[in-house]
Amino acid sequence: MKRQKFRFKKEFYTIDGIWNVPGYVINSGYGYDFKTYCCKNCGEIFVEQIESKRKQNSDAEKMIDDSCPNCNVNLVNNLVDYPENIFYENKLFKNNNEIDKIHFKNTEIVEVYSLN
Ligand SMILES: [Zn+2]
Repeated sequence: MKRQKFRFKKEFYTIDGIWNVPGYVINSGYGYDFKTYCCKNCGEIFVEQIESKRKQNSDAEKMIDDSCPNCNVNLVNNLVDYPENIFYENKLFKNNNEIDKIHFKNTEIVEVYSLN
């Protein structure tokens, strides 16, 4: 699995009474839709690139054989939506905050694993 650079903004959420839990929101656009996931076992972040014309289903099947490069679990059973779920201090949290995917200020380039 290849690592690739993507543009994100870093946000801080309050989750389960814990302040300042960091989460990255990917900057989509320019003909691509990006969807982010994390491994629920270790928190490794993954990006799926969805080309507008392609159906979303085709990529899901491709992931089946892949295992997490960080902790080695099978990804098909362990990928969860991110940052709707955030792995923080060795625990997976459900992030119920509203996630702003429209406004991007102060972005940064982060290298993460690309699923395709
Ligand atoms: Zn993992």
